[in-house]
Amino acid sequence: MTDNEFDIIAHFFQGRQALPAAVVTGIGDDAAILDIPPDSQLVVTMDTLNAGVHFPVDTAPADIAWKTLAVNLSDLAAMGASPRYFTLSLSLPGSDTAWLEAFATSLFAAADTYDITLVGGDTTRGPLSLSVCAFGTVARGRACTRQGARAGDRIYVTGTLGDGAVGLRIALGQLEATPQTSDYLLQRLRRPIPRVAIGVGAASYVSAMIDISDGLAADLGHILTASAVGAELAVAQLPLSAQACATVSHDEVVMLALTGGDDYELCMTVPQTQVSAFEARARQRGWPLTCVGMITEQPGLRVIRTDGSELVLGRRGYQHFSVNDTTEQSS
Ligand code: ADP
Ligand code: MG
Repeated sequence: MTDNEFDIIAHFFQGRQALPAAVVTGIGDDAAILDIPPDSQLVVTMDTLNAGVHFPVDTAPADIAWKTLAVNLSDLAAMGASPRYFTLSLSLPGSDTAWLEAFATSLFAAADTYDITLVGGDTTRGPLSLSVCAFGTVARGRACTRQGARAGDRIYVTGTLGDGAVGLRIALGQLEATPQTSDYLLQRLRRPIPRVAIGVGAASYVSAMIDISDGLAADLGHILTASAVGAELAVAQLPLSAQACATVSHDEVVMLALTGGDDYELCMTVPQTQVSAFEARARQRGWPLTCVGMITEQPGLRVIRTDGSELVLGRRGYQHFSVNDTTEQSS
């Protein structure tokens, strides 16, 4: 690096956000000192993005920055937590001023959008890799875990599913689409919108919640395991975008919605007693929610086609250490 790490920190990361009063000490000391609201709990998450694994090596720095923060915000949202603070660990192969400026500008645009403050980090030389640790807060005892789903609960998802996976295939040159369609799908891949307001607003209605980073089947599967229940999903109810449907066959979009990665939508289960209040709130707030199935007593996940037959899934989402995966990327 031409500059040392202190110059990089001072130039690109320090003093770029207004600090809330709750940041007693931010960037520049040995550690940050942070207040959290009384009667709240700290919710902490961390995600790393490695070049070549989580994003193609030539991805624009602005997209990398946005996604690094967005995937962490998505995890906080899935807990029903409000974003507060984050730290950033940057491993950089060199000190490229234009790259760093584009990265930092986008990072702080995302941070300001979701009201989260950078309070520290670490800067080292090495292969391009970014880790964010995000801190959120939730009223004591109100965080949403994966454990509360019960038979009879309805299963909802936000937005549309499968767009990230179709976008990835476009980015890798495996698929083509009209410029407008491919812009939309690439944007979904590179600039996921974390469902922060929905996660926080839905928290008091849901029995369990998770964010969808590895496909609905795998991520709902985590709720099923943690809650010791099963589920039935209706293929006909899966929310699919017109853009994804215009790019690959219907069967393929369904498969990617269930097993593809990179959607960063939320999946939540809602007890029958809460359904009408929850749906009324969703309408009032304009939340894009779709009911896709039901929690069952019978364990396991069953995906039911329109004709009543069961769709059998092979791979249930991306896993980093499974032997057969060489082309996919994920969180
Ligand atoms: P130390 O050697 O005490 O760990 P560092 O030199 O690593 O301190 O960092 C100095 C200050 O800059 C610390 O407050 C640290 O949290 C902050 N910092 C380092 N890298 C980053 C970064 N990429 N983004 C934000 N803050 C950073
Ligand atoms: Mg350090």
